[in-house]
Amino acid sequence: MWHIGGAGVAGSYLYRRLKDSGFDVSIYDPKRPDYYIPCGYATNKNHISGFLGNVSVSIDEILEREAHEIKISGNNFYVTDFLPRGLCTIDKMKMEKLMVEDEHISRFMIPKGSGNIIDATGVSRYYLGKVQNDLKMYAMEKVCRESPYNDFYFNFFKGGTGYFWSFPLKDRYHIGAGGTNLEEVKSYLENYHGERVVARNIRMMPTIENIFSHDAIGVGESIGYISPLLGEGIVPAMENAELLFQCMKKTGEIDELKIIYEKAARKKLLLYGQIGKLVINIQKKKVFNMHNILSIRKAIHEVENFGMKPEIMKILGHFIFNTD
Ligand SMILES: Cc1cc2nc3c(=O)[nH]c(=O)nc-3n(C[C@H](O)[C@H](O)[C@H](O)COP(=O)(O)OP(=O)(O)OC[C@H]3O[C@@H](n4cnc5c(N)ncnc54)[C@H](O)[C@@H]3O)c2cc1C
Repeated sequence: MWHIGGAGVAGSYLYRRLKDSGFDVSIYDPKRPDYYIPCGYATNKNHISGFLGNVSVSIDEILEREAHEIKISGNNFYVTDFLPRGLCTIDKMKMEKLMVEDEHISRFMIPKGSGNIIDATGVSRYYLGKVQNDLKMYAMEKVCRESPYNDFYFNFFKGGTGYFWSFPLKDRYHIGAGGTNLEEVKSYLENYHGERVVARNIRMMPTIENIFSHDAIGVGESIGYISPLLGEGIVPAMENAELLFQCMKKTGEIDELKIIYEKAARKKLLLYGQIGKLVINIQKKKVFNMHNILSIRKAIHEVENFGMKPEIMKILGHFIFNTD
């Protein structure tokens, strides 16, 4: 029997895939139903739809708002438009419920000694355990009734240390900021009144050498399967859960499963590691080096994956020529 810890995106998706395929699986999450976990709820409609199809959920059931206009600003460029390429907001909590009904979730931790654990606990890595040099950023979000920005808006902090966002939902806005300095993050949000104010850390680097413990296998943000550039983790969590599911179908033997899953996940984890290093280099003002030159295209591809077509020269200009 498999025990999944965490009924977030990765855990709920994986549970549903395994259950539908006849696996013996249970899922645990101590959070109470409807407990709100901070997330901007932005994703790429074109990319998430395929994964939703695998779990019999339609994008129309969860779609909140599609981007028509995406405004981006930074410390050395005025507000500029990026073309939308699938960027939207979804009702993430509803999506999780459609994948796993509340009554199937055990509202406590996996009992000790259960074995065969899948750690989908996100940033906490509760079952996998802590790792050294686990790089995280601060993130804070307010759920607001009003925003000065009607559509999607991003504002990059000076020196690439984080960004502010305002994302529209059907009748609310997710207004938030994430970055390396908590005071800076808070300062971007102090003028907004939120019905809810929530905060948590977000993993910035994959934990490539620590995706297993003796009795647990990690999936989703628990192993840093999240884009470090924009903190996009919804589609990556589903992608990673799908990889694990495909590997579990191939073998029931744990040691073999670990080998094939590590191999399957490694390519993307290495990519996230490379982009994470680019972000850190820029934050440390180490701009002109071979690593950055080799990584910049991949980073721009990550922006496109999130659902927008960036103006490359403006992004380069922002990070390269004015990072003081
Ligand atoms: C402020 C903020 C804004 C973000 N905005 C976006 C965005 O707009 N778009 C995007 O794509 N990504 C965004 N992300 C990232 C995204 O939310 C996550 O990367 C994604 O949800 C990770 O999915 P997951 O399933 O790995 O973990 P999570 O969705 O975090 O789920 C983890 C689950 O584990 C549970 N849990 C914790 N401990 C235990 C335990 N001991 N036992 C059992 N269960 C446990 C938790 O209650 C939770 O339900 C944002 C993150 C933050 C912090």
